[in-house]
Amino acid sequence: MFDYVIVGAGFSGSVVAAQMARNFRKRVLLVDRRPHVGGNAYDHANEAGVLVHKYGPHIFHTNSKDVFTYLSQFTLWREYEHRVLAWVAGQLVPIPINVDTVNQLYGLKLDTQEMEAYLDKVAEKRAAITTSEDVILSRVGRDLYEKMFRGYTRKQWGLDPSQLDASVCGRIPVRFNRDDRYFSDAYQAMPLQGFTRMFENMLDHPNITISLNTDYRDILGSVRYRELVYTGPVDEFFDYRFGKLPYRSLEFRHETLNVPKHQAVAVINYPNDHDYTRVTEFKHLTGQVHAKTSIVYEYPCDGGDPYYPVPRPENATLYKRYEALSAATRRVHFTGRLATYKYYNMDQVVAQALALCTKLSGSSREELVRMAAPLDALRPTGS
Ligand code: FAD
Ligand code: UDP
Repeated sequence: MFDYVIVGAGFSGSVVAAQMARNFRKRVLLVDRRPHVGGNAYDHANEAGVLVHKYGPHIFHTNSKDVFTYLSQFTLWREYEHRVLAWVAGQLVPIPINVDTVNQLYGLKLDTQEMEAYLDKVAEKRAAITTSEDVILSRVGRDLYEKMFRGYTRKQWGLDPSQLDASVCGRIPVRFNRDDRYFSDAYQAMPLQGFTRMFENMLDHPNITISLNTDYRDILGSVRYRELVYTGPVDEFFDYRFGKLPYRSLEFRHETLNVPKHQAVAVINYPNDHDYTRVTEFKHLTGQVHAKTSIVYEYPCDGGDPYYPVPRPENATLYKRYEALSAATRRVHFTGRLATYKYYNMDQVVAQALALCTKLSGSSREELVRMAAPLDALRPTGS
């Protein structure tokens, strides 16, 4: 008899499993139809021995001390600040746009104050900021929008920025100074031994049974359990009763090169060239020293594994119907990027999963975080 069957061993399912088993002595069956834990954050050593992220680059960043403290039970960290360059008009320029981006692209020598004045001059004032087009035009004007956002967004989403919520392109800040970090969060770090090792530490508990290569629908009839926690696509759970929710997918082309280093930074974006959006070189993220290097190209597409909810009004309306159905479904809890149809980063799904645990256990979030065991309670890693 299990207290919980948890569907999906990504961040969402694993946090709920670890929390409920470790702190509340619940018996958990964690199932995933993939052959591994970690969900989209899964990493592994490839045939050459280079640590790669199977489902594209995952960089951990958060402003939440609680989330960082919670995960720090299960991993040591390697400090890492992410930097990205974009290939635009025959040169590599920093993205997010900063003063160096503008100086390089337009042959200027603006300082920080002049940059503010420059953007003020070129920005297009919009009455309301509703779409991704509005947010970028209102910050940096049409030329930078065309050079750095329009093509990338059309490729990534198969939609024009004018068809996507402001929150999509609004993820990327604009800076007047020379700060060229992709993220501004207080905590920016990679799990020292990789994401998968962190998940293994999290799930290593006698109250947690893991069943991989398992679709939950194939086992529910033969398992006794009290409640279900579901982290897969919400429309699939309900057999697409109201129609399919659109998800954007990606195809990944992994390559290993016989050189120690391929590109100057971890990620290079290609807003206007090629069918792929970006190329990632993993050794920048992991700090691994190796004679070879591994990279991945991302080709956006429809119809493959669901990776991205698509933030736009009609999809939010459709999701609301599934959300109401979820709320009315007894003994089933929905959490995570796919189950709540939210374009969430890893730290956000961890926070959401911890919130579900407070509901399931009746404890406060402060209590949950305080329960975090010291790191030396980890099992020896042997490496
Ligand atoms: P998932 O990781 O999708 O896990 C859900 C799991 O449920 C899957 O493993 C799936 O196999 C399983 N499942 C579904 N249906 C069933 C079923 N019927 N039976 C059994 N199992 C089932 N976030 C960041 O913070 N930083 C980044 O740099 C970053 N980069 C990203 C890059 C890419 C290309 C993508 C796609 C996402 C990125 N993210 C990043 C977001 C991050 O991947 C997600 O926030 C996080 O992985 C979501 O975790 P989850 O557990 O909710 O979902
Ligand atoms: N974006 C863009 N040009 C860039 C980088 C991002 O137009 O060089 C837009 C694009 O729409 C993208 C969104 O901003 O989907 C969010 O970018 P982010 O890097 O956060 O995407 P993710 O890592 O989630 O794929």
